[in-house]
Amino acid sequence: MDEKLKILVVDDDEVERMAIRRALDNSGVRMELSEVNNGHSAISALRNNKFDCAFIDYRLPDQDTLTLIKTLYSLNIKIPLVVLTSQGDEQVAVELMKVGAVDYLSKSRVSAETLAQVLRHAIRVHRAEMQAAIAYQQLRESHEQLIRKNQELERQRQQIQIQNLKLLEASRLKSQFLATMSHELRTPMNAIIGFSQILLRPKFGSLTGQQTDMVERILNNGKHLLMLVNEVLDFSRLEEGQLELKPELVDLAKIINTVVGEMSSLAEAKKLSLIINFNLQNPLIVNDPSRIKQILINLLSNAIKFTESGSIWVEAKDLPGNRVAIAVKDTGIGIASKDFKHIFEAFRQVDQSITRKYPGTGLGLAIIESLVQMMNGKIFLESELGVGSIFTIELPKQISSSNSSVPKSSVQMENQQMINSTQRLHQSPPKSNQSSNKYQKLKR
Ligand code: ADP
Repeated sequence: MDEKLKILVVDDDEVERMAIRRALDNSGVRMELSEVNNGHSAISALRNNKFDCAFIDYRLPDQDTLTLIKTLYSLNIKIPLVVLTSQGDEQVAVELMKVGAVDYLSKSRVSAETLAQVLRHAIRVHRAEMQAAIAYQQLRESHEQLIRKNQELERQRQQIQIQNLKLLEASRLKSQFLATMSHELRTPMNAIIGFSQILLRPKFGSLTGQQTDMVERILNNGKHLLMLVNEVLDFSRLEEGQLELKPELVDLAKIINTVVGEMSSLAEAKKLSLIINFNLQNPLIVNDPSRIKQILINLLSNAIKFTESGSIWVEAKDLPGNRVAIAVKDTGIGIASKDFKHIFEAFRQVDQSITRKYPGTGLGLAIIESLVQMMNGKIFLESELGVGSIFTIELPKQISSSNSSVPKSSVQMENQQMINSTQRLHQSPPKSNQSSNKYQKLKR
């Protein structure tokens, strides 16, 4: 402690003050000493000057030391206070330390050494106490800050929860609207299709060539519209978790042959060759035939829609673990890897413009994905722009009858995680196009 200390001695006895002064002078501590002889003067000296330490007589003429220490404390005067006690005052001095005195010293022990020691100790203790107080204050402030931040976070969490509830309700209303609308649209659509089919029957009466052509157009457009309406209805049912699979023992090869047969006219119209390739030991599987058919129709109609020339392959093969893979390959426009994730989302198409070349609702792949998921299967996409695409579905050969759709909101969340964890690049070219080695593969 090399700095010059400012010290105050409070004692009404001139002789005792002198003894302390002398002892302090001899202690070797650099200091500036002030003296007062009562509590009142001590308060005013301590209020007006900054002291490093004060020695206070326990017995002051105008007030007791306990009151003085409490007054100093209430005035926020915080300096080390050492109480000077007489014989027999020690017990009281301990009480004084409880209200703020740093130490006490019996007047009978006053010497240069004891004063220097007590002074150093008092200042050290006081500084440590001050530092602890500052640290405590800082801790309290950061604790309060944390509480405030927590309250803010809690407020935000509650807001997000309210928003979520609102979103869920809006989504539920949207699904309900889609379901009601598509259901209502199906009745008039079926009437349009039914009556145009009756009109085309020869026994109904003969139509002119132009009339036949017009009725055929009504029929074809009606069928197309019904298909779109059914797609919307399926999607809203999947979203609501209301779609159930009806598994039965079916011949997969037969289903594929039927679907390919039904779609062959569309491929022929675009001069695309449609090739079937089976590698199945036993084509019998347990699954919902109408949903397998729906998946195949969607994949095949996409392959035909997005292919201008070349071929389309439908392949089915056994996989280890009692599973089966169905792949639809095309030599069409292909899909950029950046769009892999999005095209499986509802209403998402690579070309979202109104002037797009290829028509569609953008629901096909979203429905396929949900159905495949209900079947405990996986869907893989490999594609390269300008070269072609392969959509592969891997399914267990036997699905359980308890499979029903999970509400779409949770399906989408799970899928999002799956995309993140399984998106990967695949370097092997498709069998149909050995020259291409840049097919990207996405497993979902
Ligand atoms: P839609 O065919 O009604 O637009 P889908 O959900 O079936 O909706 O497909 C979403 C999008 O994925 C399509 O709009 C298209 O951009 C892309 N897509 C799907 N299949 C193919 C394919 N075989 N070749 C190229 N693009 C495809």
